[in-house]
Amino acid sequence: MPTGKCPGQDNQKLTVSLHPCPKCGYGVEMFSDELRIKCPKCKTEVVRETAPNCLQWCASARQCIGEERWKALFGDDGPAGREPVEK
Ligand SMILES: [Zn+2]
Repeated sequence: MPTGKCPGQDNQKLTVSLHPCPKCGYGVEMFSDELRIKCPKCKTEVVRETAPNCLQWCASARQCIGEERWKALFGDDGPAGREPVEK
């Protein structure tokens, strides 16, 4: 994980939502800035299906979530209508 706080989250209240573990069905609590978390029961990785809104506009989103995840969500070019930010 990158160090430092995502600036896209600074003015947002984090919310917690329950995501059922795909393996054991346990309700895993996931904060709104988390994309994936390990199930405390069976250690299966639970992945959020939708990205936080800040990823659509935050200039640090690409670094925040990592290149691999970014491309999985948006492809190589990033969200439509926005230039990808170079490091
Ligand atoms: Zn589980």
